[in-house]
Amino acid sequence: MKCRHCKTDLNHVFVDLISCPPSNDMLKPEQLNEPEVFFPLKIFTCHNCLLVQVDEMRKADSIFNSEYTYFSSFSTSWLAHAKKYADMMVDRFGLNEKSQVIEIASNDGYLLQYFKDRNIPVLGVDPTANTAAVAISKGIPTIVDFFGSEFARKKLVKQKIKGDLILGNNVLAHVPDINDFVQGVKIALKDTGVVTFEFPHLMRLVEEAQFDTIYHEHFSYLSFHTVKRVFESQELELFDVQELPTHGGSLRIFAKHKEDKTKTVTPRVDELLKREEAAGMKQLGYYNDFQERVEKIKYAVWEFLIKARRDGKKVIGYGAAAKGNTLLNYCGIKGTDLIQFAVDASPHKQNRYLPASHIPVRDLKSISEYKPDYVIILPWNLKKEIGEQLNYIRDWEGKFVTFIPDLNIF
Ligand SMILES: [Zn+2]
Repeated sequence: MKCRHCKTDLNHVFVDLISCPPSNDMLKPEQLNEPEVFFPLKIFTCHNCLLVQVDEMRKADSIFNSEYTYFSSFSTSWLAHAKKYADMMVDRFGLNEKSQVIEIASNDGYLLQYFKDRNIPVLGVDPTANTAAVAISKGIPTIVDFFGSEFARKKLVKQKIKGDLILGNNVLAHVPDINDFVQGVKIALKDTGVVTFEFPHLMRLVEEAQFDTIYHEHFSYLSFHTVKRVFESQELELFDVQELPTHGGSLRIFAKHKEDKTKTVTPRVDELLKREEAAGMKQLGYYNDFQERVEKIKYAVWEFLIKARRDGKKVIGYGAAAKGNTLLNYCGIKGTDLIQFAVDASPHKQNRYLPASHIPVRDLKSISEYKPDYVIILPWNLKKEIGEQLNYIRDWEGKFVTFIPDLNIF
């Protein structure tokens, strides 16, 4: 296997999570009687460019198909994040009714709606037909396709569409061919246009042992250094960066054409590069002890669940998301003895089963009916929001549990 950016042979294992089914594949009841396909989940560090990456075991087009169940608009905090972003971008870069905003992986239009509300022309691109259909029904033009250089040439530039703003949230890490993807951005960007991407920051993943953010759909694990290198290879320059609390700690990068002299590079770029270097991220040794830390979390999960079971406690999981599936599967949790069920706000997930563990997913009112002693917040990055929403579990002295970076009962 070769590095997806610099094509160097990959020999250094970052972490081996053995194997699991695709994390977003929720099972329908009838699928419980069918065999389940497990794919290896081994992550490598490229010793040349330090891109941390998983091999593309499953073709991207079979992951992001019409069964894909993630609808962005079901998360209220994510919607607030999107609105704040749109307002900030309009103010900072003077976007108006003559501008063109293009979002890659636009999902159900959760973000573009805020530009549309301000009469700024928008275009979404998303390979998933069922989420795109929701966007189109909201009046947000959306092309159902994968983005890349060929798409940019044929579907955008040839149709005289170029972006004043091209953005993508949680997509850069999800593309198999990152070089071709960034090349497509270069092609579709106006001369003085701005590009922003948000993605989980590898520094936070390593510092906080966020191993459950690793899954097959997530091909690359990105440092600011490595992203800079990938963008520079396509003649794009990073001119600003923001650190965000989303997804356990993300970066929002700002890029422009290398030739565009209308924008200055902020001191934040250099500051973050220096901080990553000081943390050791440019040395291979930084990536070497992650496996051991992940194993320690596995033992803590076992100890907690076995004790709860022996004490006769009722335990459920909140949030049927990819993160939880990685954790449960790596820890080998199967069936309903240790975790009786999971709940999720999205009706698209209810009455289905988590892959591999086969834990059933119910609606939110099941919580007050069952009165669990422990609610494990699987998407720990949303623990504040979820803790507030479910504060009523205190009525029967219920407690919340998170496992990353350490066991925390509160
Ligand atoms: Zn490389």
